[in-house]
Amino acid sequence: MALTLSRKAQAVKPSSTLAITAKAKEMRTNGIDVVGFGAGEPDFNTPDNVCEAAIKAIHDGFTKYTPASGTNELKEAISRKFKEFNKLDYAPNQIVISNGGKHSLTNIFSAITNPGDEVIILAPFWLSYPEMVKMADGVPVIVYGTKENGYKVTAEQIKAACTDKTKAVIINSPSNPTGMIYTREELQAIADVVVEKDIYAVADEMYEYLIYGGEEHVSIASLGEEIYKRTITCSGLSKSYAMTGWRLGYTGSSVEIAKLMSSVQSHATSNPNSIAQKAAVEALNGPQESLAEMKVAFNARREYMYNRVKGFPYVEVQEPKGAFYLFIDLGSAIGLTHKDRQITCAADVADVLITEYATAVIPCADFGAPNNIRLSYAISMEEIAKGLDRIEAFLKELK
Ligand SMILES: *Cc1c(COP(=O)(O)O)cnc(C)c1O
Repeated sequence: MALTLSRKAQAVKPSSTLAITAKAKEMRTNGIDVVGFGAGEPDFNTPDNVCEAAIKAIHDGFTKYTPASGTNELKEAISRKFKEFNKLDYAPNQIVISNGGKHSLTNIFSAITNPGDEVIILAPFWLSYPEMVKMADGVPVIVYGTKENGYKVTAEQIKAACTDKTKAVIINSPSNPTGMIYTREELQAIADVVVEKDIYAVADEMYEYLIYGGEEHVSIASLGEEIYKRTITCSGLSKSYAMTGWRLGYTGSSVEIAKLMSSVQSHATSNPNSIAQKAAVEALNGPQESLAEMKVAFNARREYMYNRVKGFPYVEVQEPKGAFYLFIDLGSAIGLTHKDRQITCAADVADVLITEYATAVIPCADFGAPNNIRLSYAISMEEIAKGLDRIEAFLKELK
């Protein structure tokens, strides 16, 4: 046996967003004034009351192992939040707390997937889903949402993609990268297909609090007993509470699935960080004002960005309803040239923008949308204004 490596690990694509981010960082080190629209995390600090709770946990000596799937105190807090915010009944023994939403999602696939099982992913999708499914020996099946339908996939499309190997469908609303949300009616239709085909729904509701303009967040599991039984609901503290570095995610599921995930986690990582768990209790149970303030700031940036970008040449945008991203279709710019360089895809656009305009954007080929870029508005209004000036200048140079 030679020194070969894991085929599975080698088949995993490293995150493509890193290349642009690394280039932006290097340029910044060299004193260049780079505008970074790549951010996948809130620019705000974690709220003070949450930080104080963590400091107290350290001083109180709450620094040891906790139960592998999390403390009962935090499960109680999450259970209450599920009930009040999501209209979902998950008792503490149905909740597993993990090291971030990503960890929760990988636990889900370890618990439900057997080799060859197909998992339906709705494109444009968050780039980690296909890799996560493959890491669990599953087979990603991509179904594309149309522009006409707000980049959303219909229940009929999901039904048509089901085979006898289909194990689950992943629903991410609000969506990263499109910022779109599925309505109650759309989710009801999808739930009907999930129940009819007797598959699982994996509901990634990481951006559930970040919804603007009076739209409501609907958890698919709340739409009836049958869909509730088949859904694993996943959320976390990262995006809503500006706690990306703390690594706290969680799931609500059947007791059976919770037990499997907890068992897998007990061998892989044991409990999520004890201090972060205390902080999360405060985040969920304490005052919620900072959450509301962040939302107001995100909303102002969203409106400014959308209203400016929709007037730019060669772009097509739809008003994002949630998360903190603007998803831009540059299909009309493909084939044009910028100072003799032909633009063949959104990755070319991103390359020219970073190299010549010191502006980092995320090209979305790895999100299932090769003609699109994603701009994050988790950066200050001043930076957004400056960056949009640069993108506009770039677009006006196209011939
Ligand atoms: C950020 C993100 C997550 C997970 O975030 P963690 O930092 O691991 O908590 C999950 N799903 C989507 C769509 C995300 O954008």
